[in-house]
Amino acid sequence: MNLVLMGLPGAGKGTQAEKIVEKYGIPHISTGDMFRAAIKEGTALGLKAKSYMDRGDLVPDEVTIGIVRERLSKDDCQKGFLLDGFPRTVAQAEALENILAELNRSIDYVINIDVDKDILMERLTGRRICKDCGATYHLVFNPPAQSGVCDKCGGELYQRADDNEETVANRLEVNLKQTKPLLDFYQEKGYLRNINGQQEIDKVFEDISELLGGLQ
Ligand SMILES: [Zn+2]
Repeated sequence: MNLVLMGLPGAGKGTQAEKIVEKYGIPHISTGDMFRAAIKEGTALGLKAKSYMDRGDLVPDEVTIGIVRERLSKDDCQKGFLLDGFPRTVAQAEALENILAELNRSIDYVINIDVDKDILMERLTGRRICKDCGATYHLVFNPPAQSGVCDKCGGELYQRADDNEETVANRLEVNLKQTKPLLDFYQEKGYLRNINGQQEIDKVFEDISELLGGLQ
């Protein structure tokens, strides 16, 4: 079960990743975790990555790809893996193809959790926070009883600058642009499976389970 998970911010990727990992017992390999582990173990590549991160620079592809190769070669990946946050570019996707070929393996599915941009906007801009106690609400999923007022302490609710429409729209636009060539690449390879992410969380996972059921 060799999987890559994709989805825009707000698509529910993290939630589904947790469910997949729990049900199928494969490791969840996110880029951040992978870097942290390599740095902690003090591997040559981990130390190299750290030197870039300490300077606030982007870790170059060759280092990232090396760390992915090390990670995928470990015992716990023999049964399969769920890659999350890698690859980000077509160059990285091609490198991943090479790594897997060396390991005599290949990707089974690239699961893309698909959600319309308008719905992502609604999900990502709906968060409100209490000025006094820090409680968080969501206008759609967890609204306060009275608009603009904290249920717990009566404090005023505000929207974080990160959550405002313009910032969120920009973030989605950048992500869409970055993701499109990758989705095309995997579509051409025949790995891509789009899952409707506009359903209840459990229904989304049911669709994923149905897809993965064929692999066992
Ligand atoms: Zn409050």
